[in-house]
Amino acid sequence: MAKTIAAVATGNSASGIGVIRISGDDAVEIAQKVFKAIDGTPLSALKGYTAKFGNVYADGESFDNAVALVFRNPKSYTGEDVVELSVHGGIFIVEKTLEAVFAAGAVPAQAGEFTKRAFLNGKMDLAQAEGVAALISAQGQEAAKASFNLLQGSLSNKISQVLDKMIECSASMAAWVDYPDEEIPELEEDALKKVLTESKSALYDLIKNYENGIVMTQGVDTAIVGRPNAGKSTLMNMLSGVEKSIVTHIEGTTRDIVENSVRLGNMVLHLSDTAGIRESEDVVESIGIKKALEKIDSASLILAVFDSSVPLNSDDEMLIESCKNKPCVAVVNKTDLESKIDLAVIESNFDKIVYISAKNNDGTAELEKAVKEILGVQGFDSSQPILANKRQKLCVSNAYDHISQALDGAEIGITYDAINVMIDSAVDELLSLTGKKATQEVVNNIFSRFCVGK
Ligand code: GDP
Repeated sequence: MAKTIAAVATGNSASGIGVIRISGDDAVEIAQKVFKAIDGTPLSALKGYTAKFGNVYADGESFDNAVALVFRNPKSYTGEDVVELSVHGGIFIVEKTLEAVFAAGAVPAQAGEFTKRAFLNGKMDLAQAEGVAALISAQGQEAAKASFNLLQGSLSNKISQVLDKMIECSASMAAWVDYPDEEIPELEEDALKKVLTESKSALYDLIKNYENGIVMTQGVDTAIVGRPNAGKSTLMNMLSGVEKSIVTHIEGTTRDIVENSVRLGNMVLHLSDTAGIRESEDVVESIGIKKALEKIDSASLILAVFDSSVPLNSDDEMLIESCKNKPCVAVVNKTDLESKIDLAVIESNFDKIVYISAKNNDGTAELEKAVKEILGVQGFDSSQPILANKRQKLCVSNAYDHISQALDGAEIGITYDAINVMIDSAVDELLSLTGKKATQEVVNNIFSRFCVGK
């Protein structure tokens, strides 16, 4: 019998309410030793989905008011009996309640153990469990929407549809091969090819959308580069809505890389505000400039900032050169001032150009549009199922390869036996995605990345 586990389900900071979650066969009995309802009703007398107001106790002494919410197996998050104790959310009170719960017989929950139990009890599959983790760490609108869809089973349903067809196909081929004397109708070659083609195409859609999904849900590693005083720090502050980069009119103020995650419309950019790029004798500044050039090479997106109020100089030319053939948006800044920049040079060197005034907070919508176009995510639809991580992508890619081989085999007329081996391999990959055939190691690895209390 699995031990009854407990952990704090809410964050580790002072807040209005803190929730201690207890799950397992002894959840109600344990909670009852810590919590007494004001009206005297024992928790063991409560049906599922029932709450009671009362006090929590340690060593026979009450130390806070609390609400106990009882869930009865299997109608709970984990599928086990669950009690949630909501106390006042001071760190001390929450910890004291948790300690009292441990003293009453619960053991500390491991990271992700509540969700792991939900998975093991069939409340959700592995892809949905990964949706829970993704939803908790979502930083923006698209990430939250896509993770919620994953949690709701959008990917699992799509994979199930493919699986059902493949398993049916495999079963009729196997029956026909294994029982040649029975009157089992042979699977028509055309019907086989149709199933394989449809399955291949469904998986292809998922693979094709993977990179875009990652960009939209996990954010883009973005470098803001430009000569000193172009307005990089001001742009970063405009996007983040706070003064994080130091803005001064003294050239070379941003010496190192300042990092910050900001929202641009419905996407998230992980920004690095780098040192201005220019020739410098200053040792410290030179290190910053070297880092900026390295960042240009490694970033998935570059925002190359130009000061439109002054003519281009050798630093700008250096920047234009370093941005060649990179995913880059030219950001022509300070459009509130009289223009002295040679725009023809910018226009001939960049595919995407936006005109902004970072100081006046002007141009964000244009910047969002340009960034989406350069990254190719303008048509991204978060309501469609997407693959949330490398593990899911690998399972689907492997399944796709097996199905492609099976289809090629069917085209040249190899035996059904051989085709069936390939189909079975594809089925195995898809079953490991949803967790029906995942190894213990894979399952443990997934849940170890969750936070404690989830
Ligand atoms: P950085 O060295 O590229 O990070 O440049 P900063 O962001 O520190 O800006 C340098 C100077 O330009 C500061 O005095 C800013 O206030 C000013 N600045 C930045 N953006 C604009 C803008 O859009 N319009 C105007 N008029 N001034 C700006």
